[in-house]
Amino acid sequence: MNDIAENLNRILSTLPEGVTLTAVSKFHPVEALQQAYDAGQRIFGESRAQELAKKATQLPADIEWHFIGHLQTNKVRSIIPHVAMIQSIDSPRLLQAVSDEAARINRCVDVLLQLHVAKEETKFGFTPDEISDFAPQIAGNYPGVRVAGVMGMASNTDDFDRVRDDFDAIRRIFHSLANGAMKSNPAFRHISMGMSHDYKIALSCGSTMVRIGTDIFGEREY
Ligand SMILES: *Cc1c(COP(=O)(O)O)cnc(C)c1O
Repeated sequence: MNDIAENLNRILSTLPEGVTLTAVSKFHPVEALQQAYDAGQRIFGESRAQELAKKATQLPADIEWHFIGHLQTNKVRSIIPHVAMIQSIDSPRLLQAVSDEAARINRCVDVLLQLHVAKEETKFGFTPDEISDFAPQIAGNYPGVRVAGVMGMASNTDDFDRVRDDFDAIRRIFHSLANGAMKSNPAFRHISMGMSHDYKIALSCGSTMVRIGTDIFGEREY
């Protein structure tokens, strides 16, 4: 077995039943993704529009491509034919652009609402106040998307208590939306949180989807 297959199998064996693995393949060559594919992986996460669109034409058609990076509205059109899910909806304007473009080509794309709970200014996403204002306006207004849950990142720190606080905050927001503005939406079920260095904490905080790159493919070469 090659390293990538071995890494994948090791990680999969630690995931509780019902948790989905997004293999974050950004910056890695298609050969590496093919190895993961041959080992059975079907969900891949990319963070740049052009890279996703290119890889999608080079690799098997049954791959589910998830977009996980900051998406500019002028790049939406290039990825909509390829993506199964956009995990990083970080503004009403982006949700509108994705819905419009998907509807235009008769698609309905799964999306996650990205939440910003970490202390860093550099992260994108809705703050808790922004999402509680915006969520009630979603139902019925975005026919090209299916809102399938939330995505978030913890603060980038070795302070595990703070990481846990961030993941707890994401889970709490998910549940308040699931019992509130998203109550009539059965597709709203995912809490995407946890990366290579913190996914075990994320799982203990209720993650249903982890996004793991480095632990599968090794370090990225930028
Ligand atoms: C790159 C990235 C990941 C994966 O990070 P690793 O540390 O390589 O596991 C997860 N989520 C997002 C949003 C990313 O941009």
